Amino acid sequence: MGDSIFTKIIQGDIPADILYEDDHCICIKDIHPQAPTHLLIIPRKPIPRLADATEEDRALLGHLMLKVADIARSVGVDEAFRVCINNGEAAGQTVFHLHIHLLAGKTFKENSLSMQ
Ligand code: 5GP
Repeated sequence: MGDSIFTKIIQGDIPADILYEDDHCICIKDIHPQAPTHLLIIPRKPIPRLADATEEDRALLGHLMLKVADIARSVGVDEAFRVCINNGEAAGQTVFHLHIHLLAGKTFKENSLSMQ
């Protein structure tokens, strides 16, 4: 398989609104936002799905989660945000390069993983 769209963004081959980057990940705005704040936190390492992560990725996964919280704070949504990882086509994954959705700015439906 060729490079994912996110690898192309990381390499600078495709433009994106990059809010944050470090040696391990980047954060971009989702091109089709599902909420007023819809960001994607993407590791530079092209792990296709969360299920493909290994013990070797333990520190990276921790880093990503801490960055989600930092970024939520930096954009002012740390009081209420939702984090989502789609794993596999049937779960809605369309880009096979691990990424964390950070969604905020809408009321969350009770007892539901979808948003109003
Ligand atoms: P998934 O469905 O795999 O969990 O999420 C992929 C996300 O990537 C979708 O929300 C989609 O809108 C977003 N996306 C797909 N292509 C691009 C792109 O070229 N640029 C940006 N910024 N987001 C993209």
